[in-house]
Amino acid sequence: MASYLNHSLILGGIEPMTCGSCTQVCPYHLSYPWLGIQNSTNSLTQQEASDELVARVKYLFSNEFLPSLQPLSGHLRAALQREARLSGILATSEGQLWIRRQNPYPREIMESSISQPSGSPQSTLIEAVCIPCSSEKAVETVTLDVSSTGYYLDAISKKLGLTDAANVLVSRTVGKTSSETRLYFAAHQSCMLDLSSDPLTAKEAIHLEGPLNESLSKKGPLNERASYFSGHDIYGDAILASIGYTWKSKDLSYEDVSVQSYYRMLISKIPCGLYKLSREAVLMAELPLAFTTRTNWRGSYPRDILCTFCRQHRLSEPVFSTETTPIKAPSESPACGKKLRVTDSTEEEIEHEKGCARDTVARESAESAVTYQCGVKLFSKCQDLIVECFPKDSFKKQNDSIQNTSLKVLSWLNAYFRDLDMTPEKLNSTANSLEIRFCEKNFSKEFALCRSIHNVYQSETQGAKFLDENHISMPNTLPGQGVFSLNIDGPDSGVCPSNGCLLVISYSVSLVTESGYKKVLESSDEFEFEIGAGAVIPHLEAVVIQMSIGQSACFKMDMAPKEFVLAAAAVSARNLSLLSSKSCCLKYSLTLLRVTEPLEERMEQALFSPPLSKQRVEYAVKHIRESCATTLVDFGCGSGSLLDSLLNYPTTLEKIVGIDISQKSLSRAAKILHSKLSRNTDGNAPIACVKSTILYDGSVTDFDSRLCGFDIGTCLEVIEHMEEDQAFLFGDVALSSFRPKILIVSTPNYEYNVILQKANLSSQEEDPDEKTHIQSCKFRNHDHKFEWTREQFNCWATDLAAKYNYSVEFSGVGGSADIEPGFASQIAVFRRTSPPDEDEHLKDTDSAHHYKVIWEWNRPSTYSS
Ligand code: SAH
Ligand code: MG
Repeated sequence: MASYLNHSLILGGIEPMTCGSCTQVCPYHLSYPWLGIQNSTNSLTQQEASDELVARVKYLFSNEFLPSLQPLSGHLRAALQREARLSGILATSEGQLWIRRQNPYPREIMESSISQPSGSPQSTLIEAVCIPCSSEKAVETVTLDVSSTGYYLDAISKKLGLTDAANVLVSRTVGKTSSETRLYFAAHQSCMLDLSSDPLTAKEAIHLEGPLNESLSKKGPLNERASYFSGHDIYGDAILASIGYTWKSKDLSYEDVSVQSYYRMLISKIPCGLYKLSREAVLMAELPLAFTTRTNWRGSYPRDILCTFCRQHRLSEPVFSTETTPIKAPSESPACGKKLRVTDSTEEEIEHEKGCARDTVARESAESAVTYQCGVKLFSKCQDLIVECFPKDSFKKQNDSIQNTSLKVLSWLNAYFRDLDMTPEKLNSTANSLEIRFCEKNFSKEFALCRSIHNVYQSETQGAKFLDENHISMPNTLPGQGVFSLNIDGPDSGVCPSNGCLLVISYSVSLVTESGYKKVLESSDEFEFEIGAGAVIPHLEAVVIQMSIGQSACFKMDMAPKEFVLAAAAVSARNLSLLSSKSCCLKYSLTLLRVTEPLEERMEQALFSPPLSKQRVEYAVKHIRESCATTLVDFGCGSGSLLDSLLNYPTTLEKIVGIDISQKSLSRAAKILHSKLSRNTDGNAPIACVKSTILYDGSVTDFDSRLCGFDIGTCLEVIEHMEEDQAFLFGDVALSSFRPKILIVSTPNYEYNVILQKANLSSQEEDPDEKTHIQSCKFRNHDHKFEWTREQFNCWATDLAAKYNYSVEFSGVGGSADIEPGFASQIAVFRRTSPPDEDEHLKDTDSAHHYKVIWEWNRPSTYSS
């Protein structure tokens, strides 16, 4: 009994890998990893290489190979099983491409290999996906009936319109590395012929002599979508299926591949698609704009996404390099700050870093004596440099520097995929702004196919416009296009999210039509994300900052790109046609379930009752009331917590002003103040005196004459959010130019952090990740640029007071002045000592208006009773 194997049994079932110099599948340039053959080995002579190939191929036909657990042996067993039927077709003939075992297999081997019942006798139907060659034709499901032929390549060849499984080629695995999903397509002449120049032609074992089978398709048009997935040229229609023999079992293993899987593979080629998939929130999540902290990041880390991206696009693994710079002690000469090169960072180092973070705080401060900068380079498989990014930012943690650099590269790549028509100039300037350099030639070479694929994707998806927007909204306005019928329901609980908070929402996104049809595409009971980082579609973020805990919101939006919709949910043929119709939109419904304050607040809450932030506000309110001030300015008012509280007490205040640089915070402050003031216009309310309230957008380090000569100024927990020199500048501007009668400044006491950290650790023992982070976070909040000891704060305030004729007193909240390490929040109260008339000239002499009025409220003129 002879067993015949045609060439498909070699090529089919083997992963063709292109060799870099050749973009097509060609036998010469294939490597055969399943056989352990790599054609790139240079150390072998031609003869040695040829002998090795022969030996390996011989092994395929040995008695041991047939029953072995090897993907290829499955094909041999299948060939034996169908031999009776196929023997006529497989007649040996010169000029055919086949390999034959000369002697029949011994009976025992045959029986032990193929006599097992191969699954159930009834039909085995497998779902696969056909990717038509013409990109105009939709990708659709096909069913492979494996039971009728017994050999899956026959079923696939039938779908491809081929007469013979011998002419089916199989790609390497595509999509997730863990899956067995491959592309099946017709071999064409050009990929089989012309081995004349091949020095490695295996003379004895493999007869690759033309002319080849008639049924081999002509080259035909390129299947761009399939080629894009496989990384080599594929002509004609292709089948995407997850079926085949594996190393694990002798049975055929298979899984259904749906159209949704196809679209998931498609979007996973884009950085933001990868991120969306990792968050299981295709229609909701976005690749965030910034990497703030490890604890706030949700979904795959930027570094991992970048590695996956490179794998997806068949580039080499990204090469990271980090450098450390010692932080200069004030006495040291600049020469001491020279850079030390650290090795390429590896996963272990990051893990190691995690482990180290459990050490004591003392060690922590030693660790922070260096800062890390990270650079990354992306190379093609042939080691041509494509992109490099060397940001100047330095970080206290190595991991942060790696994640930030990775995110920069991802953001740039993402911008490219989002707008493939970007001019080279724009691509360049985007790169510059992200500290990226790229080689245009190598870049366009590697990403040539993306253009055709994602161009199709672009033209189909006009709704994609909104994805690029990321702007901030004021109350009741929303990012221009796309959002309509916004409705926020439920009582205002007053607990609102602010930047850096982690929010938990439940949500659903549905496809809705004018006629009332509705289909849920995506939903989640618990979806957590950081606010202010662009981690969700901008519309959602704009809506959610207007909500308080417990409230629900509903809004409609233009269709998302078709690829995303199809990747989010299995959509029926009927719905598919809806997707392109105008009468269809997406409806988002969400409920704000929880808000986790940024780290600082959490730590403070763990230790203080009432919370430290409340104590600060109460401290300021007390001073304001005692001072009988009529005018107040809150420098760095944030979301207006102080201004809001002030309106709860009867005071003598007539004019209240807040200033901040954060538009989002200001818009929240405006919303809160507006609702409070408009509710309390009767004469008996605590705010009866208040005549006007204004919110300005501007930096407190800039002068604006409208803030001059106030009775009292407050600046709570703001200076540490500026660079140190800016904090000094603020002190100068405030006391030399604004000259309030009283200025209250609070800032964290660095020495107190040990206690906060300890308290927080014991209260959060069960969350190791959180613990790591707290230990490794030097300051109370990632946005803090510095935190001062009592001595540093005293120096700053004392010098400042002396310079501008103020007295200063020190106080604080949380803890006590007499018990080490002092107050948790340290406070300086400055009082103007120069006689009032000396300062009179300051009032509005200079009418510099550098701030922008964001919101203004004036008491309606009183009506006579
Ligand atoms: N005072 C508020 C907010 C403190 S958070 C409170 O106690 O709740 C710090 C605030 O300072 C942020 O809102 C930030 O936007 C603001 N800020 C930082 N630098 C600023 C600057 N240069 N000018 C104005 N505001 C600034
Ligand atoms: Mg702060």
